Amino acid sequence: MKKISIVVPCYNEQEVLPLFYEEIQKVMLQIQEEHTDTNFELLFINDGSKDNTLQILREMAKKDERVRYVSFSRNFGKEAGMFAGMENAKGDYVVIMDADLQHPPKFLPLMYNTVLSGEYDCATTRRVSRKGEPKLLSWFSRKFYKIINKISQTEIVDGAQDFRFMTRKMVDSILSMKEYNRFSKGIFSWVGFRTKYIEYENVERAAGTSTWSFWKLFCYALEGFFAFSTAPLTLASVLGIISCLAAFVMIVVIIVKKLCFGDPVQGFTTLICAIFLVGGLQLFCTGISGQYLAKTYLETKKRPIYLVSETEEDARKTEEF
Ligand code: UDP
Ligand code: MG
Repeated sequence: MKKISIVVPCYNEQEVLPLFYEEIQKVMLQIQEEHTDTNFELLFINDGSKDNTLQILREMAKKDERVRYVSFSRNFGKEAGMFAGMENAKGDYVVIMDADLQHPPKFLPLMYNTVLSGEYDCATTRRVSRKGEPKLLSWFSRKFYKIINKISQTEIVDGAQDFRFMTRKMVDSILSMKEYNRFSKGIFSWVGFRTKYIEYENVERAAGTSTWSFWKLFCYALEGFFAFSTAPLTLASVLGIISCLAAFVMIVVIIVKKLCFGDPVQGFTTLICAIFLVGGLQLFCTGISGQYLAKTYLETKKRPIYLVSETEEDARKTEEF
């Protein structure tokens, strides 16, 4: 028998979970009709939801023994959710997908067949349009991919998503990367393996609201730069060299001027501009080094990526079960 673990990170998804469960059941049946040697586990990660997500998961686990869940002690973020899912999954294959049906379950049979063919270790989807997304956000996203692919050795495919169907081998490789500051889009491509991209049009959320504000996405993009490239540090050094060269030229000009014209008072404007410019540059570069230092500081603490408060096993032990 082959087992497929479907990992679903959930944060405040009470509205969408019943819809998701209904849809995924249809697809699981469809796959089992074609592949009778396949069974499933549904592994939900409750990422410290403040609504009734956990209650819904308990109910689902009570009715359906394929349903498992891991509930975090607080909100640790989707990256931690995906990591916990992969770590707790028991399947020979692991699927990661969102709860909001933006990752259409209808692709699963195709993804399974792609991986089963033996040619690929991973099947994933790639959005070819950003329909329904604010224009400004799309523009920033496209710029992000352009820049990061220029400055990072790791290729990060535009439109690639966390919706992945992976073999155990690939999952174990990802799990061997224990870094605390996780940027999965980079990690998936850093580990390599043969990946098939299935293209599709963007789908909007089935219900509920996205938790990703523009600011959160911006910080996530910065996380990507700092986690998968040291180019900002090079930029800081280059800026330093350029301002040194400029300073050298300025010194020569000022000395020559002083010797020829002997007027020491003029040049106030130049002085103020230079002070502000150099001050700004220094703060900017210190900020860049600070970012790397902060990341290093967090990594050295070796804090756990997530903490569990409850799993379906705890719930099954209690009397109501
Ligand atoms: N999610 C999570 N923890 C968080 C934020 C989001 O586990 O802190 C989950 C969320 O429940 C959903 C998936 O990550 O299943 C994607 O989130 P969302 O739909 O809000 O993001 P978007 O699709 O807008 O990128
Ligand atoms: Mg979504």
